[in-house]
Amino acid sequence: MYSSLKYIPSIFVKQNPLQFTFFVTSRCNARCPFCFYWQDRHSKQDELSLDEIEKVSRSLGDLLWLLFSGGEIYLRKDLPQIVDAFYRNNHPVIITLPTNGLAPDLILPRTEEILSRSANSTVVVKVSLDGLGEKHDSVRNTPGSFEKAMETWEGLRRLCERYQNLQIGINTVFCRENQDDMDEIIDFVNGLPGCETHTISMVRGNPADGSYKRIDLDKYRRAVDRLETDLKGARPKMYHFTLARLKSAQDLVQRRLIYETLRQGRRQLPCYAGRITAVMNEVGGVFPCEILSDLMGNVRDNGYDLMRVFRSAEADAVRARINKTRCYCSHECYFVTNILFNPRMYGQVIRQYMELPGQSR
Ligand code: SF4
Repeated sequence: MYSSLKYIPSIFVKQNPLQFTFFVTSRCNARCPFCFYWQDRHSKQDELSLDEIEKVSRSLGDLLWLLFSGGEIYLRKDLPQIVDAFYRNNHPVIITLPTNGLAPDLILPRTEEILSRSANSTVVVKVSLDGLGEKHDSVRNTPGSFEKAMETWEGLRRLCERYQNLQIGINTVFCRENQDDMDEIIDFVNGLPGCETHTISMVRGNPADGSYKRIDLDKYRRAVDRLETDLKGARPKMYHFTLARLKSAQDLVQRRLIYETLRQGRRQLPCYAGRITAVMNEVGGVFPCEILSDLMGNVRDNGYDLMRVFRSAEADAVRARINKTRCYCSHECYFVTNILFNPRMYGQVIRQYMELPGQSR
């Protein structure tokens, strides 16, 4: 297994992407009204080819965390080859693959192929679940999606029996339409066989239907408090991977910070987006994060050298703007790196760590 410990010196080298997010496609088989990526659709013909992606991955150094996003990522039939390029060239400790679960016939064989080629990485597949039964279908405006997501889940659970490096979890988008259903969703996920993690992600960006963002912050607080109670009450199967207790402690700190960010309407800690994180979209545009549309450059104009883009004057200007404007958001992925790579946060993380049950559970 690749080790995350080698990244600790990088705490002090903050202009090298260790967390890389690749939007492999904007195509999707669902039409969720809360999607934040509905305006930037590109056709299949415009997407970076496998050959181009291989060149980009060769330009990057080793990665701590490789995330894929979209669109529905499994619609790309070369997804296993794309993951393999990053696996060979960048040795990611963690590879995260989110899916709406709508196409088990694509998701299951492609996940298995990825697993068979990525033995040294922890592969995390996150299935979306935003309600139970027809409620999930209606929140996502996609009939039949709950049934398909559960079919996908069962297939992934079976894969877990054969691949030690696979972890499966659920992601729930917290939005106006499901904010009153959090307890029943959490209960359901707690009972899902094989479930390792449950993330509740705040609805973000500019969704197609803006009404989904009219959330009640107190209800979000109650949902994250419930997750915290479950974690401290030692639900035994959650978070048992390497450095798991530390990750759980970071999660607890993160949820409180997100709540405070939204409650106070200002940033709670510096953001390292564009320093240790980079995002590339399906046509080669490079951005500091998934939220800002500030383009640092395009790999197609830079010989597929992502580091050249990352070290450009445009990228410097984007980073300076993020600092100057004291940019803030609720995006969970960026809180992960903003906490783990900020030594000033370690006191809070250690306090939470001490309150968590030990590894014997
Ligand atoms: S605070 Fe959020 S939107 Fe702003 S740069 Fe960081 S990740 Fe991007």
